[in-house]
Amino acid sequence: MPELAYVNGEVMPIDQAYVPVEDRGYQFGDAAYEFLASYNGSIFAMDAHLDRLERSLSALAFEPIDRDLVRNAIATTFEQAGYARAGIYVQVSRGVAPRNHAFPAGTPPQIVITVRPVPQVAETLLQNGANAITVTDIRWDRCDIKTVQLLPNALAKQQALNAGANDAIFVSKEGIVREGTASNLFIATPDGLLTHPLTPNILPGITRAVLIDLCRNQGISVQEAFFDQDALLRANEVFLTGTVTEVLPVSRVNGQAIADGKPGPWSRKLLEMLRQAAGA
Ligand code: PMP
Repeated sequence: MPELAYVNGEVMPIDQAYVPVEDRGYQFGDAAYEFLASYNGSIFAMDAHLDRLERSLSALAFEPIDRDLVRNAIATTFEQAGYARAGIYVQVSRGVAPRNHAFPAGTPPQIVITVRPVPQVAETLLQNGANAITVTDIRWDRCDIKTVQLLPNALAKQQALNAGANDAIFVSKEGIVREGTASNLFIATPDGLLTHPLTPNILPGITRAVLIDLCRNQGISVQEAFFDQDALLRANEVFLTGTVTEVLPVSRVNGQAIADGKPGPWSRKLLEMLRQAAGA
């Protein structure tokens, strides 16, 4: 089965898909994106992703997009690719126009979608837990908008890999623990689960929202409140959540073991709850 791309209405093998050099996403990072995944051939949380895409585009002062067009484009490309567990990347840029910081008038947005298989997190990583490092969050003040400007995220991820870790955790200059490079972060404390509140400094993750809802429906306490790096290191459990990451325990931060250095029960329970909700 081919890995496919959709570019402005046309579906083609991914290696045959191109965008013009004056696409504003390419030159200015003037684009928003979503990343969806399927479980057993059904796309998970499509509406939540479309809602967030519309929110991002509106925050960037794009003209409203045709939601049904985007939904159908995602569904058609996904169905043609035919993967049970696919990763679906959707990018909407402000369009193609002669390079100029000012927005072009009357230029239609460019919509690009790619579909390829996405591997599940390796069972050994789930069993051992990930190693993370903390890095200072040097991103901008609107991390709640899902823009393609991911250079600080890519730099932090590479810094983690170079240090022999799996991922990096962004910590504000004031010491508040924010999120991973492509995931939100939770800790388990004796009082329940804790995660950074929705502010412009983190992405409102769909997985985060789904898990909070599932937990609250089952009477599991989740607080959305600030916590610092000391609380992170003293937590009973630390875990990352995201569309690709699902629920990934972190067993070491900056080389220091979290609790006894083994993933705890909460991350496994939430992973099971998420997969069940997703029809896995
Ligand atoms: N934070 C960041 C910075 C991300 O890139 C992602 C992945 N899109 C997330 C959190 C998790 O979001 P979601 O659960 O919607 O995948």
